[in-house]
Amino acid sequence: MTIDSTVEWPPAPSVGRLVTPNVTHLLAPNASSWTYEGTNSWIIAAGDESIIVDPGIENAAHLEALRRQGTLDGRTVSAVLLTHDHPDHSDGARTLADSLGTRVIGMSPRFADDLLKEGDVLTVGGLPVSVLHTPGHSDDSICLWVPSDTGCGRGALLTGDTVLGGRSSGVMGKLGDLLASLQRLREFAGDHETTGLPGHGPIVTDLVGETSVVIDVRSRRIDQVREFIADGDTTVLELIQRLYPQLRGSRSMFAASTVISTIDYLIGLDGEKGIADAAQRADITADVDKYKQAMAARTRETRTR
Ligand SMILES: [Zn+2]
Repeated sequence: MTIDSTVEWPPAPSVGRLVTPNVTHLLAPNASSWTYEGTNSWIIAAGDESIIVDPGIENAAHLEALRRQGTLDGRTVSAVLLTHDHPDHSDGARTLADSLGTRVIGMSPRFADDLLKEGDVLTVGGLPVSVLHTPGHSDDSICLWVPSDTGCGRGALLTGDTVLGGRSSGVMGKLGDLLASLQRLREFAGDHETTGLPGHGPIVTDLVGETSVVIDVRSRRIDQVREFIADGDTTVLELIQRLYPQLRGSRSMFAASTVISTIDYLIGLDGEKGIADAAQRADITADVDKYKQAMAARTRETRTR
């Protein structure tokens, strides 16, 4: 296979293409309004070993394509790794790992047989793959650094849903964490010659630029939420409607989480940087609590169904 990082986007689902010397891409067939063209599955391979990252949904044809690609040239798949535990990345993980007789690894105890932590280095056929804990999109989000094993040229940073290819992702963790993770990734990308391999969307050739765009978008959102609250929008619903007037269906859950994380972030800041008016701060804090309780009740209801 020749390296092809410029193929037209989106490629056909479940077809392997080598995008860096050690990483193959396969697009999962789960396009939707909240997964964009689908989840990006990645296979990191070196020597006689490979690991499969983010198998995506439970789709027999896609999991079979991943299995075949992962074991190409007689390689052993030593793990199925999750960049985080959201269902569009993780639902197929157990079936795939079982079919390969291997383990699921990641930072979420909900799915992983073996838990990863910041600074872990996985050796894939002699290639050192490093784990960076980058919480914010979710608490268990990680990125993976795959250096070039030829000793020259670009490495690859698998960014999960922390940085997407030209798209925006929601904040299901803490916004303060996400901003710190993005700063860290921008510095990392500045220090290392690297291509960004995101959880959704096309390959990112300018990771420093893309990370800067995401930081700017988040910063603008923080300013907007602060202004809207100062204007008298003191309920979560009012803020969601003003910030995301077009949103419907599943994306509105992402929007709600993102708005709540932004308000939580502002509540935690002092004076003019946060919510300066004490009465407004009290009102929005009470409404956020109410909204979180309603969301938790809805999640419980869905789980028992
Ligand atoms: Zn996600």
